[in-house]
Amino acid sequence: MDDLRRAGRSAADLVADHLAAVPGGPVWRPVPDADRSWLSHRPLPATGRPLESLLHDIRDHVLPYPMGNGHPRFFGWVNSPPSPAGVLVAPLAAALNPSCAGGDHAGVLLERTAVRWLAELVGYPHPPGAGLLTSGASMATIVALATARQRAGRREGWDVRESGLYRHRPLAMYLSAEAHSCLRKAAELLGLGSRYLRTVPVDGAFRMDTDALRRLIAADVDAGVRPFFVTASAGTVNTGAVDPLADIAEVAREHDLWFHVDGAYGALGVLAEEADSGYAGLGLADSLALDPHKWLGVPVDCGCVLFRDPAGPRDTFSLVPPYLRDDDADELGWFSEYGPEQTRSFRALRVWATIAHLGRDGIARLVRRTTRLARTLAAMVEASGDFDLLAPVATSITAFRHRPAAMAPGEVEALNQALPAAVQRRGRAFLTGTRLSGTAALRACVLHPATTEDDLVVLLDEIRAAAKELTA
Ligand SMILES: *Cc1c(COP(=O)(O)O)cnc(C)c1O
Repeated sequence: MDDLRRAGRSAADLVADHLAAVPGGPVWRPVPDADRSWLSHRPLPATGRPLESLLHDIRDHVLPYPMGNGHPRFFGWVNSPPSPAGVLVAPLAAALNPSCAGGDHAGVLLERTAVRWLAELVGYPHPPGAGLLTSGASMATIVALATARQRAGRREGWDVRESGLYRHRPLAMYLSAEAHSCLRKAAELLGLGSRYLRTVPVDGAFRMDTDALRRLIAADVDAGVRPFFVTASAGTVNTGAVDPLADIAEVAREHDLWFHVDGAYGALGVLAEEADSGYAGLGLADSLALDPHKWLGVPVDCGCVLFRDPAGPRDTFSLVPPYLRDDDADELGWFSEYGPEQTRSFRALRVWATIAHLGRDGIARLVRRTTRLARTLAAMVEASGDFDLLAPVATSITAFRHRPAAMAPGEVEALNQALPAAVQRRGRAFLTGTRLSGTAALRACVLHPATTEDDLVVLLDEIRAAAKELTA
């Protein structure tokens, strides 16, 4: 134990030194050959080594090559820096090392609180037991879609768990053209078939067109297909768009569809002072996926799925027959009765610590600050002569493109495709690209609490400099 105590003190210093050095270093840097080889090709060690010596290797070969998301000028994908509270408690969760499948211990009790707090933060109803932490929103989506599939079967008079999907009429699901790929993955995995996945067009602000949704549903009904599930986005990855949740809830109600909201990234955006009007209706969802490891900054990994009714997921996943449930001892049962995972890690400690450290006020400040910066970036883009804004800012993502003076449209397209990698290589800012309405786009997602307006100026200047490099 003395060995661990000594090395632990060194590790604490290493963590603090690393985090303090991040803003002054490159956002990202390529891994040189020697370190690449060290990281990829070390042989299996025959004998062990002292703990402290492991730290030297981490300092020399691991910490210098981050993905970049700890840096205030990281604007790529949807990846936040780790919350200090999450970093602090991660080793304590490992020291306790419970399985949060169930049982009577701190891990499961605290997960109940973490889930309840997350629901309350975003204004989603929370009957006890109606949610659990997951590896991420991809797993949250699988849990939600499986639950919806089970309910649809029951409504039709069959039990999907018992008979599978054999010889039943197809179930159709609806999602917008901007929905995250994890929905398609979940549909394919659950045997629903991507053939029955309907892509609803979006409007000019990249929000689901609910009239088109109604038309697609009507066509399926005419064709003998059972519409059963619609998913809306509260914050798309491409532009941060928020679908009109209340309108979609209404369509779902009319047609007896399960209404799922993907708030993996954007559910917290409801806390912004100018929260997008689309959020009204969030509380009407049958299920909501949100990722504490995105905007909230809980260190990876941590997702969450919330339900209006805890009976749904339990009916879908529990292998404990109702007559064996000891309702007096623990009416909610085990977390493993609500999802596919058995041994489950103590994610709740990182969620609890992050929320306890920031408080509701601190979280709202973070959301407001980052959404304001995304709008500021949009204003800078619009005021410039050489950038175009490609979408309104609904959350903390700005989608735009670079259009240097007197450049032909074909060249602008090729330039914007090449820009993200070129900006990343320069190491002073990091952003990623996407495609919007068929053209190459740049997108900046602001999640870091220490990002400033100066960092936005650097970002645009770095894009200009990278463009000069590429066209030279
Ligand atoms: C990140 C994200 C997902 C996928 O979640 P994981 O945590 O990566 O599994 C789904 N939807 C949206 C909108 C996301 O931002």
